[in-house]
Amino acid sequence: MEEIGIVIVGGGIAGLATSLALHRKGIKSVVLERAEKVRSEGAGIGTLTNGWRALDQLGVSDRLRLTSNLIHKARTMLIEDGKKKRAFVLNIKDEARCIRRNDLVEALADALPDGTIRFNSQIVSIEEDETTSFPIVCLSNGNTIKAKVLIGCDGANSVVSDYLRLGPKKAFACRAVRGFTNYPNGHGFPHELLRMKTGNVLVGRLPLNANQVFWFVVHMQDSQHNGKDQKSIANVTLKWVDELSEDWKEMVKICDVESLTLTHLRYRSPWEIMFGKFRRGTVTVAGDAMHVMGPFLGQGGSAALEDAVVLARCLARKMGPDHGDLLKDCSVKSIEEAIDEYVNERRMRLVGLSTQTYLTGRSLQTQSMVIRLMFIVLLVLLFGRDQIRHTKYDCGRL
Ligand SMILES: Cc1cc2nc3c(=O)[nH]c(=O)nc-3n(C[C@H](O)[C@H](O)[C@H](O)COP(=O)(O)OP(=O)(O)OC[C@H]3O[C@@H](n4cnc5c(N)ncnc54)[C@H](O)[C@@H]3O)c2cc1C
Repeated sequence: MEEIGIVIVGGGIAGLATSLALHRKGIKSVVLERAEKVRSEGAGIGTLTNGWRALDQLGVSDRLRLTSNLIHKARTMLIEDGKKKRAFVLNIKDEARCIRRNDLVEALADALPDGTIRFNSQIVSIEEDETTSFPIVCLSNGNTIKAKVLIGCDGANSVVSDYLRLGPKKAFACRAVRGFTNYPNGHGFPHELLRMKTGNVLVGRLPLNANQVFWFVVHMQDSQHNGKDQKSIANVTLKWVDELSEDWKEMVKICDVESLTLTHLRYRSPWEIMFGKFRRGTVTVAGDAMHVMGPFLGQGGSAALEDAVVLARCLARKMGPDHGDLLKDCSVKSIEEAIDEYVNERRMRLVGLSTQTYLTGRSLQTQSMVIRLMFIVLLVLLFGRDQIRHTKYDCGRL
C-alpha cells in the first residue's frame, strides 16, 4: 500500500485551490482526480470581490484578470404576462468578473508542481486503518493509499462527506443549464449581469468580452429532464426559453453545444452546516463536498477558494513547512487541532451564505407574491438592506 502525507480527493476548484494554497505554504499534497484532465464543466463562473481576494492570496489573480472584464452593474427583472413588472439595478463598486472555468482551473493547475495531480484516479471508498486510525483510500483500479491527512474536495456527490457521516444533500426542484454563445460580429449587449425571471424560468447572461457571452437558464419546476447528451440538453433549454424574447432564443439556438452542462441543483441545509461534524480523525472536506448551495448568489466557487486559503493557513500554523511527503514529525493531535480551527473559522461564514442562498432561491421559485414578500422580508431582517454584503468578506492572508 502506498503512503502519502496529504491526499486531496477531487481536482475541481476546491481541490486545486487547496493543493495550491498548501504548496504556497511549503506543504506537499497529492490530488486524486477521476477525470482524465482538469474539468471545466459549467462554462463560466461569476467571481465577486471575496473570491478575488482568495485568488490574490493564491497568486493566480493577475493572470485571470487578463482574460475577464469587470462587471459594473447587475440588473434583475421580473416579467409577468410578457410585461416588465419590477426591475432592480445594482451598481457594483467592488470587483466582479466572469471567468471561463477553463481559465480558472488551468491557472490553479499550472501553478502546482509537476506530478501533484493524478488523473484517472477515482476513489470508491474510504476505510479506517485499525492501528493508526488514518484513512485508507480505495481507488477504482484496486489500489489503496494510506493518508495522514485526507481532504475531500469531491463535489456534491462526495465519498469523503459520506465517510464523515454527513447527511445527504437536499434537492431544489430546479434544473440549470449553463453555456457559452459566440457572436462573431459582436453581441452588442451592455457589459452587465442581466437576470430575468418569467414564469418558471430564470435566465441570466454575462458578457465575457465583445463576442462571447456566458449564460444560464434555470427551470424552477422541471426535475424531469436528465439531458442524455449535448444535443438533448440544447433542445430542453430551447423549450425552456420558448416564451422569451428573440435575443434569448437566438442565444440558445447558436450556442456552443459542447459547452452546455445540465445540473440538478442541490444544497446542504444551513442547519446541517451549523451542526454538521466536518472532521473525523484527520479527514475533512472543502468546497461543494462541504457546503453545496444553489447558484442564486453566485458564491459556491468563491466560498471554495476561501476554504482553501483558510484550511492551508490553519494546517501551516500548526505544522510549519518542510515535513517531507509523509509528515513524519507532525503529530496527529496538531493536525486535528488545525482542522478544528479551519471548521470553526468557516462555519458561520458558510451558515450565512447557505441561508441567504436558500432564501433567495425560494423567493425566486415561488409563484405567490405573498410568499415571495415573506422571503424578502426575512432576507432583509437577517442580512440587512445591503444584500451583497457577503461579497465584502475577506478570508485573510494565506
Ligand atoms: C448553475 C450553477 C451556476 C453556478 N454559478 C456560480 C457562480 O457564478 N459563481 C460561483 O462562485 N459559483 C457558482 N456555482 C457553484 C460552483 O460551480 C461550485 O461551488 C464549484 O464548482 C465547486 O467546486 P468544487 O471543486 O467543490 O466541486 P466540483 O467542481 O464538483 O469538483 C469536484 C471534482 O472532484 C472530482 N471527483 C468527484 N468525485 C470523485 C471521486 N470519487 N474520486 C476522484 N475525483 C472525484 C470531480 O471529477 C471534480 O473534478 C454554480 C453552480 C451551478 C450549479
